[in-house]
Amino acid sequence: MCHAVYIHIPYCSRKCSYCDFNSTATPVIPLEQYTELLKKEIRSAGDFKELATIYLGGGTPSLLTPGAVAAIINELGRGNAILPDAEITLEANPGTVTRASLEGYLAGGVNRLSIGVQSMDDRELAFLGRIHSAGEAAAAFEAARAAGFTNIGIDLMHSLPGQTLEGWRITLETAIAMGPEHISAYGLTIEPGTPLSASLDAGEIVPQDEDLAVEMFELTAELLGKAGYEHYEISNFALPGYRSRHNQVYWQRGSYRGFGAGAHSFQREPGYGVRWANPAELSSYASLVTTGAVPDNELLQKKDAMAEIFFLGLRMLDGVDLESFRREFGASADAVYPGVIDRFVALGLLRRSATKLQLTPQGVLLANAVLAEFIPSP
Ligand code: SF4
Repeated sequence: MCHAVYIHIPYCSRKCSYCDFNSTATPVIPLEQYTELLKKEIRSAGDFKELATIYLGGGTPSLLTPGAVAAIINELGRGNAILPDAEITLEANPGTVTRASLEGYLAGGVNRLSIGVQSMDDRELAFLGRIHSAGEAAAAFEAARAAGFTNIGIDLMHSLPGQTLEGWRITLETAIAMGPEHISAYGLTIEPGTPLSASLDAGEIVPQDEDLAVEMFELTAELLGKAGYEHYEISNFALPGYRSRHNQVYWQRGSYRGFGAGAHSFQREPGYGVRWANPAELSSYASLVTTGAVPDNELLQKKDAMAEIFFLGLRMLDGVDLESFRREFGASADAVYPGVIDRFVALGLLRRSATKLQLTPQGVLLANAVLAEFIPSP
């Protein structure tokens, strides 16, 4: 049974310079028509019984009117019970919201906002191609509080070319002073095909120094820890009781259903799980919905399911339960990955307790290298 729903809104006012997400500023289908397609897709999917989390991500979901957001949530509520304490998140871009629109989202059922602040430095925001200033980001946060939101996350980005440790400290301290319940802090990666990647190839920018990037990560954990935020996932921090319930479904390999262009879905059963994805391109998505076609499924093999337990589960600092792994797959993790766990434990990157396996603070810094060891070769 699926308790989590993701809704993808691949629309943006303008593409940011680093963005390789499935989103467009020049859509071939108007947003209003896309909303109707979403509702049709939801209607034809049948029901999932009880929904504990709904997440509207993008793209820029805050380009939707409050009425459109309420209509999507209502459509989900038709065949399903949206649990009374369900977490319903909307990603908001500071350049697109007003106090009135935020009040509308709250009235329509949204109870958690994730605001893409990214930086509190206007030069960095311009470099990233964001549509808002630092002042507008702070104003959006204040407007969300004034509108009545009591669960607000903000996204920040470090390790930008040219960013100093002091500059990152100021962004972090400003963010902490705002008092969000949740902070995500990601290091910038320059993805192929983006304008930033072209600037890199042209020699116009220099990637952040790796040692400085590590210092920024360490400063993040230090300052947020002192401010009372739990470091619960490699890049995510929350005040007690405010972890993202929706994202934990992904990391804990729970079932979720995605709607919209490019949205992915996963069902933990039958077998070792099944995944599928909608076409990413808007007109292909529209054909899928209007013809009632069904995307191809990928049935996972046992080795894929076992690997996912580690490379998703170890992202959470609570770690992976080795005993439930053994029960589910009929073999110990040491038997499945001979020598791997012992090697990382010896290197001080993993910590093993009676039943748990967790990243150490040093392991968090080198998480990509550790997690890669659990991915099966093709
Ligand atoms: S707002 Fe987000 S999704 Fe849209 S272009 Fe910028 S980074 Fe990409």
